[in-house]
This record gives sequence, structure tokens and C-alpha cells, in this order.
Amino acid sequence: MERVIKGIHYKTKQPVEITLDNGLIAEIESNPALKSEKTIAPGLVDLQINGFRGVDFNEEELQESDVVKITEYLWQEGVTSYYPTLITNSDSAVCTALETIVSACEKDIYINKTILGIHLEGPFLSLEDGPRGAHPLKYVKAPDWNLFCKWQKLAKGKIKMITLSPEWPEAIAFIKQCVASGVIAAIGHTAASSEQIKEAVLAGARVSTHLGNASHATLPRHANYIWEQLAAEDLWATIIADGFHLPKSILSVFVKVKGEKCVLVSDATRFAGLPSGSYSSHIGGEIELNDDGKLFIKDNPNMLAGSAQSLCWCVDHLVNSEIATLSTALDMASIKVQQLLGEKGAMGLEKNAIADVIVFERTNNKINILKTIKAGKVVYTR
Ligand SMILES: [Zn+2]
Repeated sequence: MERVIKGIHYKTKQPVEITLDNGLIAEIESNPALKSEKTIAPGLVDLQINGFRGVDFNEEELQESDVVKITEYLWQEGVTSYYPTLITNSDSAVCTALETIVSACEKDIYINKTILGIHLEGPFLSLEDGPRGAHPLKYVKAPDWNLFCKWQKLAKGKIKMITLSPEWPEAIAFIKQCVASGVIAAIGHTAASSEQIKEAVLAGARVSTHLGNASHATLPRHANYIWEQLAAEDLWATIIADGFHLPKSILSVFVKVKGEKCVLVSDATRFAGLPSGSYSSHIGGEIELNDDGKLFIKDNPNMLAGSAQSLCWCVDHLVNSEIATLSTALDMASIKVQQLLGEKGAMGLEKNAIADVIVFERTNNKINILKTIKAGKVVYTR
């Protein structure tokens, strides 16, 4: 079915008409006569989503309908591709979640196209308090390729990314096996030495997961895992640019140093998209989401309880903090992410690219998604 969308190209700032056909962008033509307040940009891609609006991939009772719900919520936020993220949990809980996600994908072609892969964040992480973050200690363990293969079989190959800590002696062989099987190995929740980080990168670790978060409160000033990951030129970085996880100066430095290899993730929890107020969490106890959008432990407001914001919010934050222009921030949440994954979507708004497109207005320094198109199909209209 052919469809034409009209608006301002997010990068060239020129009025354009984009013709979609058969799931692809068939044509982009400039139309100088067109007057529009709407901007057209590539669909957003989020590699780290734990849940959204009250639903959590890590909840024991996860249903296929929950997977559909989260996907629909994310379409409303302009996300056209994402990786459901499973955190450290028992073997059986991981198995059940993988089966549920995969089975939801098998029942709906657009859910399947949107869930590009699954991100396992754990359980092969640091045992240390601080780097481990909120991951439950009792399930953290050394990298185990046989266990991973069992999960990958249940996931029918859909696990595309695993975050692990290179401080385990087993990590280097594990990373090499990931690379050989086409799974992205990410460094995160780590207390690794500089040497161990270097070895992991040499073995093929491709990305740092939410660089600068999940670390010790204090670090040696020179030899530490943050400098080492910043210095590793082959290493991409994902950052949580919600305005709470990293202060502006650090965001600014990470974006400058990583340059073309810096991408945004939301790391959204099930509290994202909910109204402000008090909630209880299975891992954090009593937590509070305040009017500014910060999610924290009620008894200890300095302790974050995860992210409650979408990728769109993070794009706005980078722009409003004057760390990136709107088009650069959008790229960091869309085509740059696809580049990291080596996906075809890296083409963005170009002829013959997959038609993953968003249309939005930006008022009061905030993106308002008007339309989301996934592989040529309108999956959300405001
Ligand atoms: Zn994490």
C-alpha cells in the first residue's frame, strides 16, 4: 500500500514528501511550497527496555499480551525497534521470559519486526556491590557458554546482545564465542581491571552498557574501568541521558569522546510512562517518581531506582542541555544504534531504506510523537 507523508526533514530542515511503498521508502522529494510544523525522522531504536507503563519483562507472570502492550506503548513513544532486556534472574525465570517473548513475536509480524532482538543483562556480572547495581546477588555467576546456548535455543536465536563483566576468568573465551555466533558482547556492571577491559575489547567486546552507571562510588583516579572504556576506540557506548543517571558534564564528555560511537538507551523500567507518585518495587522496596521524572528509593533520594523515561525524553534532554543538536541526538537514538547492530535500518531516511519513520512536533522543548510507522505500517497515530 502506497502512502505519502509530508513534513520537514529532521536533518536537511527542508520540506519533503516521502512516499512509502511495500514497507520501504520508495521516494523522497523536496516540496518547497509545503508549509509544515511537523518533523519527519527515522524511528527510534532502544537496546535496553526492562518494561514500560506498569508492565515488566522481568515479572514472573509475564504474558504474551504484556509483550504486545509494551510494544504498543513504545510505538506511542516513537520507538520502532527495541531489545526487551532481561536482567539477572533464576534460570527458570529467564527461560520462561524468553519463551513468552519469542512466542509473542511468532504471533504478530509487526511485533516480531519491532523486537529486533533480546538483550540479556546478566547474570554474568560483577559480584561487587556498586557495579552489580540492583541485580540480585544470588543469581550472579561466572560466564557459562552452555547455559547461554540453552537460553539461545529457547529464544530461537533472538538473543542478540549480552552484557557481562570481563572480571571473570571465563569472560574472554565467552566473548569470543559470542562474536563467533553473532551475538554482541557488551561490557557492563563490571569491576574489571584496566587489563581485563583491554583483553575483553581485544576478544571482540563491542559496546559499553550504560557507561558511567553501575560503578563503585569512588574509583582510583587513573587505572579504572571508566577511563579504560572511554579510551578504547573500538568500543561503542550506550548512555542513559535521562538527566538523572549522569550529570551534564559527564554526558557532555562521553558524547565528545565517543563521538560517532555514542548511542542512547532508555533503560526504562515498568515505572516509565506512569504518573508521578509512590510505588513499590520488588527489588527496590518503596520508591518514588517525582514530578521532575526522577525515580528513586523513598528512604534515600540519592539512590536511583532505575529509569522512568523514554528514549524521546533522553533526546530532548541532550538537546535542552545543549550537548547535541536535535538531528544529532535523534541519530544517536536511531540510525547510529542500527549502525552499532549492523542492521539495514542504518540507512535512515533514504530511498530503499526500511520505512521506520516518526512524525512529531516539538513544542516547549519537548517532542510530541504524532505518528509512528513501522516497516511501512502506521502503528500509532495521536
Ligand atoms: Zn544495568
